[in-house]
Amino acid sequence: MCAEVSLSVLGEFGLIEQIRARFPQPVLPELGIGDDAALLTPSPGMQLLVSTDLLAEGVHFDRTFTPPRLLGRKALAVNLSDLAAMGARPRWFFLSLAIPSPFPLGEIEEILDGLAEQAAAHDCVLAGGDTCGSKSGLLISITVLGEQSLELVLKRSGAVPGDDVWVSGTLGDSALGLHLLQKGQRLNGEGTPIARHLDPVPRLLLGRELAEAGLAHAMIDISDGLLADLGHICRQSGCGAELALEKLPLSEQFRIYAAEQKPFPWQMAVSGGEDYELCFTAPPGNRAAIHEIGKKSGLLLTVVGKVTSCGQVHAKLPDGAVFAPSASGYTHF
Ligand code: ADP
Ligand code: MG
Repeated sequence: MCAEVSLSVLGEFGLIEQIRARFPQPVLPELGIGDDAALLTPSPGMQLLVSTDLLAEGVHFDRTFTPPRLLGRKALAVNLSDLAAMGARPRWFFLSLAIPSPFPLGEIEEILDGLAEQAAAHDCVLAGGDTCGSKSGLLISITVLGEQSLELVLKRSGAVPGDDVWVSGTLGDSALGLHLLQKGQRLNGEGTPIARHLDPVPRLLLGRELAEAGLAHAMIDISDGLLADLGHICRQSGCGAELALEKLPLSEQFRIYAAEQKPFPWQMAVSGGEDYELCFTAPPGNRAAIHEIGKKSGLLLTVVGKVTSCGQVHAKLPDGAVFAPSASGYTHF
């Protein structure tokens, strides 16, 4: 497309046409972009799992330090992470955009490029959406549809006292990355805290392997911080949990940063949010089989505590004292 064409010249339908052209469409007899509603057919015997996330400029992302292509990748990744948390396989997604005017068309194209990359990586087909103007910032709303059979879906409500509490990957990197971005640092390589903040990887393979192996009782993705999200599992399962902070998986870069802070930034690791790792509970007898799945998925899996019957989540510091968080996770209001 010519660089000088602006969004106002392209118009709503021109933009929708641009979007359609960038994404492979559902295969007939299914219908994607272009009719009044999409027509989709789940695989035989499968249930649909549907999840929506809204990303608002100024709340979820800052355009001054977020490369548009990574914003597109992240917008889909955070939705796919919800499907991972249920053990589902992604199939389709819907994309709704509210765009302020004027807005650089090139930036929209880069966001779409990032979305298309992430969609292709996870075999997720764009089946429709909505496009309108915005009187404030840019809004990106995505709805993903995935599938899994009813008996294999992993809910938040299945934890049982005595279960191990597991987490994948390392925690706190994304929160540290955001802190560094806000202090003026910029993207500096793969796997760094800043990369983990700007370009999170949804743990889809791990989620499905755990669900399909029937090894876990409950699962959630860590979007608001381990304390808050494990709290959701506990509330919905009618139990509590005891975490040992010394067992938390922390990256080398997080440890280097943390060693210079006083006190140690446990808060960042357990309540920083946007980790997009999985937290799940499972009977201790499944440990060896779960470590095998970790190897297969290429992810570190760590037991960080136990499910209890006490009804609350407690975290213990390495010296045995109870950790008192100043906030358990990000809340909007
Ligand atoms: P309606 O007026 O019936 O809502 P629209 O003109 O909004 O229809 O949309 C026309 C078609 O384009 C629909 O199939 C819709 O799903 C699709 N569409 C609109 N906006 C987007 C978008 N941002 N991403 C993907 N598909 C879109
Ligand atoms: Mg519409």
